[in-house]
Amino acid sequence: MKNITVIGAGTMGNGIAHTFAQSGYRVSLVDISQEAIDRGLATISKNLDRMIAREKISEADKTETLDHIETFTSLADGVKSADLIVEAATENLELKLKIFKQMDEEAPADCILATNTSSISITQIAAATHRPEKVIGMHFMNPVPIMKLVEIIRGYSTSDQVTQSIMEMSKKLGKTPTEVNDYPGFVANRILMPMINEAIETLYNGVAGVEEIDTVMKLGMAHPMGPLQLADFIGLDVCLSILNVMYDGFKNPKYAPCPLLVNMVMAGKKGVKSGEGFYDYSESRKAEKVSIAFKN
Ligand code: NAD
Repeated sequence: MKNITVIGAGTMGNGIAHTFAQSGYRVSLVDISQEAIDRGLATISKNLDRMIAREKISEADKTETLDHIETFTSLADGVKSADLIVEAATENLELKLKIFKQMDEEAPADCILATNTSSISITQIAAATHRPEKVIGMHFMNPVPIMKLVEIIRGYSTSDQVTQSIMEMSKKLGKTPTEVNDYPGFVANRILMPMINEAIETLYNGVAGVEEIDTVMKLGMAHPMGPLQLADFIGLDVCLSILNVMYDGFKNPKYAPCPLLVNMVMAGKKGVKSGEGFYDYSESRKAEKVSIAFKN
């Protein structure tokens, strides 16, 4: 596989394009918005500069990486010669089904179609195509150029051969691929989201304050970031939507989102991206000021 197409140039898409391009693949980066493409390329360039400053790569490596990336606003043009497509467009079921139908029509017949979805069923996405055995989840973590894990999700019909070639390719990217089956939340979010939800319940029940909860998990469990700060970083709306997918998928009340989380999202407090979540980010993005008081 040499030609990789990445659909979506947002947070994840530009990181995925960066990672493939830096490993020597030819990348076609597709987004419906030219502005998103420009922003994505600027982010890649900035992240490569940071690597130069840390003496991890040279100026020449940066130029070579950027030279590997071509951009498109038309999906049909961007997937024409793809060996693998990694879809990282907005998390929305209808949108993903539409994109996969179009990818199936426009991409070469032997092209593997992967999705970076955090919570949508790979099996359902695969069913929108005529090649479900070639549809797979490649769940990269944010920030993609730094995080080592790729959760490789086998849909109900994904073939052994496709799984194996995606596992091997992920290793060539310097990542550690981990194979999991397609059930709501896969593995990463199935374990992470109930922990975040429980941290919010702990606050909601008045057991402890925001900083106390995060300190216990940071210093007691050696987590680099407390669960409430992490929820703010991921986006509280994203956490809520993943919990709802697991709650609907398993019909098990243990995944029911905490009412405080629901309220915060309804109030527009989505974490870092909205300037306020469990912490206030109006002056600093470092989670230095708590925005919700401890109530008992
Ligand atoms: P984002 O909002 O930053 O970027 C999405 C991009 O998709 C936007 O630039 C948008 O213009 C583009 N887009 C929308 N419709 C399109 C179309 N029809 N064709 C081409 N491009 C289109 O979103 P993100 O955070 O990068 O998330 C992308 C995917 O990655 C989602 O499925 C999300 O669940 C998953 N994911 C996100 C994270 C994270 O931490 N942000 C982590 C793991 C997985």
